[in-house]
Amino acid sequence: MIHFVGAGPGNVDLITVKGRKLLEETDVIIYAGSLVSSEHLEFAKEGCEFYNSASMNLDEVLEVMERANEDGKDVVRLHTGDPSIYGAIQEQMDNLEKMGIEYEVIPGVSSFVAAASAIKREFTLPDVTQTVILTRLAGRTGVPEDEDLENLAKHRASMAIFLSVKSIDGVVAKLKAGYGSGKTPIAVVYKATWEDQKIIIGTLDDIAEKVKSEKIIKTAQILVGDFIDTEYSLSKLYDRSFTHEYRIGRDD
Ligand code: SAH
Repeated sequence: MIHFVGAGPGNVDLITVKGRKLLEETDVIIYAGSLVSSEHLEFAKEGCEFYNSASMNLDEVLEVMERANEDGKDVVRLHTGDPSIYGAIQEQMDNLEKMGIEYEVIPGVSSFVAAASAIKREFTLPDVTQTVILTRLAGRTGVPEDEDLENLAKHRASMAIFLSVKSIDGVVAKLKAGYGSGKTPIAVVYKATWEDQKIIIGTLDDIAEKVKSEKIIKTAQILVGDFIDTEYSLSKLYDRSFTHEYRIGRDD
């Protein structure tokens, strides 16, 4: 059986209990070495085989899975954050399906929520926005034109931009065009939850300069939107006059 497991954003204790248990029991671990902390491997049992997928192509990963499966071994495929976001797991799952190999997916804490926790902010503030957009700038993988950052910014939703800090100037240019101003708050969180985490907060006008002076060119979340710095309404959920399934509202 193959278990795709979300390792979480960095800190080794941010994997799920289920994920950790699987790591402890499995015979083979294939991990994305560029972003998954090697500390996770210390939980593996003796004799467990390790493969770093950073230096492997899709066929090689599938080969390891197939061989292990034939030998009746369990495999954990450890992905950074949550595997469903920029994880390239669909192609692995589709191949396993074709090969008739059983698999499951264990979710993980994505870096975009880890970044929100680092800056202690809520993406969905009442009367500000109720929507979160996860996106990226086009790189070697393209982005459909309708999803261009400038177009997305026009919604004024909260945004988490992955894989793009290297092109911070390009990100800022598109966001400014979309928002029609440079005043929108923006945060760059480098290596959220790792020991060397860095938080940079600014506006569209000054963030690029700050990011460059910190020399941040990878492993960062760019969070943007008014949720970072704004007035908002109190939530209805905890409003004493608001009734919901678990609580009767009071007018007193
Ligand atoms: N599946 C992962 C994302 C993989 S794509 C997840 O759910 O988080 C890799 C990108 O994720 C990086 O370029 C960066 O933008 C972001 N990222 C991953 N780990 C991060 C971390 N600890 N802090 C900030 N950004 C991170």
